[in-house]
Amino acid sequence: MLKIDHKHCTGCGACVEACPQLAVVKIRDRYKFIYPSIDPQRCIGCGRCDEVCPLCRQTDNPSEGVPDGFQPLYYAAKAKDRGTLIGSHAGGLFFLLGKHVIARGGVVYGCVFDENFHPRHVRASTTTELVAMKGVKPVQSDTDGVFSSVRSDLEKGVTVLFAGTPCQCDGLRHFLGKRYDHLTVVDMLCGGVTSEGVFHRYLHWREQRLGGRIRDIRFENKRAFGYRSGTRIIFRRGRMRYLLSTPAPLDRLMRMQQSGAVLRRSCGSCPYTVPERVGDLSLGRFVHIRRAHPAFPFDGGVSLVVVSSPQGEALLDELANELYLEESDLCRASYNRRLVAPVRQSRFRKKRLDEIFTCDFDVAAEPFRVNGLLSRMIIWCCWLLPDRLVMAIHRIARTGSALGTRLTDAFRQIIRKKDAR
Ligand code: SF4
Ligand code: SF4
Ligand code: SF4
Repeated sequence: MLKIDHKHCTGCGACVEACPQLAVVKIRDRYKFIYPSIDPQRCIGCGRCDEVCPLCRQTDNPSEGVPDGFQPLYYAAKAKDRGTLIGSHAGGLFFLLGKHVIARGGVVYGCVFDENFHPRHVRASTTTELVAMKGVKPVQSDTDGVFSSVRSDLEKGVTVLFAGTPCQCDGLRHFLGKRYDHLTVVDMLCGGVTSEGVFHRYLHWREQRLGGRIRDIRFENKRAFGYRSGTRIIFRRGRMRYLLSTPAPLDRLMRMQQSGAVLRRSCGSCPYTVPERVGDLSLGRFVHIRRAHPAFPFDGGVSLVVVSSPQGEALLDELANELYLEESDLCRASYNRRLVAPVRQSRFRKKRLDEIFTCDFDVAAEPFRVNGLLSRMIIWCCWLLPDRLVMAIHRIARTGSALGTRLTDAFRQIIRKKDAR
């Protein structure tokens, strides 16, 4: 019988779906992270849960996902179509891949928020259903019944594209137990996930401050902030609908997440933040694109694509006409640190989570409040002005800051030359 290690269990859900006796159920801990729990009354000791758990098998039987001997390929890529690019994360690769698979009669599995902001994996067989999967979700999704559904589709010969966090992808690989030629697994370069409980408390806190009901939230706001990330909240107050754009460095949930204060325990020692990927393709944001590929058109976001199998390579080739694509290498790709190292857990993690669940989100978020007049002015501007104007101001500020840096450098050089004389 499976020994559940709460420090390392990723909550992928493979053991839950694999148990023939339905003896493994999902429970939530006090911070609302999902963990499996085994009912000893039902368990018959068949060992299937042990067999599918990626973490139990990592030492003696590493992931069967990627064929041996394939040299990973790294690319900077971006959709040519502006519409695809604007609503998507980074360069819009996931949406393009999904659209392509659906056009060939296949299906896509990915994460969406339902009407109650419950993140869950669903099956999409039309482009309309695919649209809801666009964008990043910083919360761990529920994969209830999804692995079995993927297997059933694959057995029927349906082409499947599965996208998720690397731990979910590895869970699926182990659950299936063999490779299918018509399955493409796409893992996201992952900076960790928080729990649904934390996310809902954040939403509640936002609603209280806004004095309205949140109707939509996205952790991508290219209309306002270009290739830099930010949140976009649509909320309703009375009969009116409002839009609130916040740059990522000023959004408290994003700041808490990036500093490792509200992440799942396993994320701090994540075994998937390595160049050897579980997916056929891995997608993430190409960080420092201007330094890595100065000639690449970076406007609107660029994806980092890691190709880890001939299958992934073939799929990317089929999309070549719809993409700007430039070959990269591991050195430049690893500007995105999630390819080489896990996110660091904050030493205040427990304290922050306790504050969120026993006091208020506001108390936990207080150390992440941005002080300073300039930051406050940015928040007010984002509040009051339409997205296009925010973007224009953002550009002017960026150009001004780049100009300032150049002037300072030039000034320093002049002083150095003078000193040398
Ligand atoms: S040993 Fe078999 S029956 Fe028991 S929990 Fe695991 S899979 Fe279920
Ligand atoms: S299969 Fe996944 S959810 Fe189950 S114990 Fe292993 S890591 Fe945890
Ligand atoms: S950081 Fe690792 S363990 Fe955490 S959600 Fe991402 S892949 Fe899973």
